[in-house]
Amino acid sequence: MNEFDIETLAVRAGYDQTPEQENSETIFPTSSFRYESAAQAAARFGGDEPGNIYSRFTNPTVRTFEKRLALMEGGESCVGTASGMSAILSTFMGHCKAGDHIVSSQSIFGTTKVLFTKYLAKFGVDVSFVSQTDISEWQAAIQENTVALFLETPSNPLTDIADMQALSQLAKANDCLLIVDNCFCTPVLQRPLEQGADIVIHSATKFIDGQGRGIGGAVVGSAELIEEPVRGFMRTAGPTMSAFNAWIFLKGLETLPVRMKAHCENAMQLALWLTEHPAVEKVFYPGLKSHPQYELAQKQQSAGGGLVTFTVKGGKDNAWLVIDSTQMLSITANLGDVKTSITHPATTTHSRVEPEARLKAGITDNLVRVSVGLESIEDIKADLARGLDQLIA
Ligand SMILES: *Cc1c(COP(=O)(O)O)cnc(C)c1O
Repeated sequence: MNEFDIETLAVRAGYDQTPEQENSETIFPTSSFRYESAAQAAARFGGDEPGNIYSRFTNPTVRTFEKRLALMEGGESCVGTASGMSAILSTFMGHCKAGDHIVSSQSIFGTTKVLFTKYLAKFGVDVSFVSQTDISEWQAAIQENTVALFLETPSNPLTDIADMQALSQLAKANDCLLIVDNCFCTPVLQRPLEQGADIVIHSATKFIDGQGRGIGGAVVGSAELIEEPVRGFMRTAGPTMSAFNAWIFLKGLETLPVRMKAHCENAMQLALWLTEHPAVEKVFYPGLKSHPQYELAQKQQSAGGGLVTFTVKGGKDNAWLVIDSTQMLSITANLGDVKTSITHPATTTHSRVEPEARLKAGITDNLVRVSVGLESIEDIKADLARGLDQLIA
């Protein structure tokens, strides 16, 4: 189905209808599969005959999700995993050994940082953290033993854009992989493989589900980089996506293009409105011309995305007042949901970062992050105005 547009792939790709002729994808909640004979069992186990064996590593619903997401990202292979974190773990377990080194943007998901510094480090894999946007820092951090460059773009919460084409050239020149966590944009807004990335990682928990129901993840890339290293680890270690969750994410993919469009439209309108509000100091949104990397964002992404971050005039108390004055928005650190969520990064998602490092990274106490959902934009604005208007009264 390679020749179809992404909206069509999202709805139809990857599914083999069963003899029941159902129109909607079936769930296969079965742990194992039966063979017609001992010879067939032997052939399946020996890898001589393709087919289902055991749902830790072969399940038709998971496979449909994997095929569909692979086509949407423009990758050959995809492995579904139990969570976004296990997608990251499986990728690095598959591609790193003791003595290897990774260069990572410092502006990545906090738990990913902990995975690198607390757990991969125990097994002799070192990570250097560098600026999301300064290519010379990436270059300077690369060592003989560097096997991968890792990033998310736009960054959370400040929406800094990493230049994937420049970093892909750097990775190629140094014989290492460029690995991109594409959670915020999804393939609808940005396809990192087309920009030179080697591997794309997802937390399906966020926009791919989009309705807050399941935890899951995925890794996409060429068959060579995915099948033996990553699927091999996944099938052996078992951070498997369940059939139920794969079905949720499949249904999520069907509406992902229209949802992303609506998230971006609402987010753009909110960003423009916040820019005009006298209680707001600064707005961070890649769709705004005032974003320092507006041009790069325009080149890499088809729209600004669903996350809008802003600082209020004053400090933490004012940021908390805006959050606590909302009546409709969900106060939660989750993102990518149809329900708009609001969070105070300095005391939640980034509270484990040392205060000095946090400030250096721009996560100030007056910073508020909104993951813009699909409610009426007028209602979202009105809910934020409850607190913002008090600050100018
Ligand atoms: C949430 C998130 C993850 C982790 O995903 P889980 O599904 O929660 O394990 C990884 N990367 C990014 C950018 C995220 O936002």
